[in-house]
Amino acid sequence: MFNSLPDSVEIIEVGPRDGLQREEQLLSTADKVALITALLDAGLRRIQVTSFVHPRYVPQMADAEEVCAQLPQRPEVIYSGLALNLKGVERAHKAGLTHIDLSLSASDQHSRRNANRTLPQALHEFDDMFRLARHHGMTIRGGIQCAFGFRTPDDVPPATVLQLAGHLLQLGVDELSLADSAGLANPRQLHTLLRQLPALPPGTPLILHLHDTRGLGLANVLAALQCGVRCFDTALGGLGGCPFIPGATGNIATEDTVHMLHHMGIQTGVDLQALARIARDLQTRLQKEQLPGKLYRLLAPAAEVR
Ligand code: ZN
Repeated sequence: MFNSLPDSVEIIEVGPRDGLQREEQLLSTADKVALITALLDAGLRRIQVTSFVHPRYVPQMADAEEVCAQLPQRPEVIYSGLALNLKGVERAHKAGLTHIDLSLSASDQHSRRNANRTLPQALHEFDDMFRLARHHGMTIRGGIQCAFGFRTPDDVPPATVLQLAGHLLQLGVDELSLADSAGLANPRQLHTLLRQLPALPPGTPLILHLHDTRGLGLANVLAALQCGVRCFDTALGGLGGCPFIPGATGNIATEDTVHMLHHMGIQTGVDLQALARIARDLQTRLQKEQLPGKLYRLLAPAAEVR
């Protein structure tokens, strides 16, 4: 069963975007940049730093341009931003990002809520966004949200996801990601869907974006590892969740995921103790009693444990 595990896995930190997008306590731009810098110092090399969406809907991301302008310049690091429409792509490019995360939802209902578009409209606009991002020379991630369901695991047909994936690959996305935005996936479902995916061109990684809404996040990571996935989105402290999915909760926690991988002999290049420290600091800044993640509390120095 464990024959196919890799030696290393790439972690993409999405805390500054997905993690913060539904927090009541707004972080200042300076705090966000300090968070990103600390994550880099902990060894992360890929960070989704913001989203370019309308501030009326997601006020937590209203300072997208300011955050991008203050990012530490480190050549080995890939910063990305999320865009859901053409304006978002243009803003990301103007803000200096060279890597863009485009996404559309496999659920028509979710698409109407999250992007104010039906699925066919979203697909049409995706093509336009792709062309604009290409025109700007950006590296493009094509993401499919709600790939494992919106309200129930059965309300998004796998055939729709496979069709969208085929379309994105045909367009020529540089990375394909599947998101369990509502945290509905289970390991068997995930395994079945991944096995049906069309073969990805060499050099085009598959990224999984998992939410731990029902406590199945790390079980799904294991299933994905066995299917050959080598790249995961995670959020510090297990924060996050789509504001337009009822009952949605956080992403798989970066530190919990890293902990599992390291103890299974899979390297990530990330310092677990440092992550735990940053998560504790974030908990304070967000004025929360607790974050969803587990390891950051367990790894606290004895004096801090209550
Ligand atoms: Zn998410």
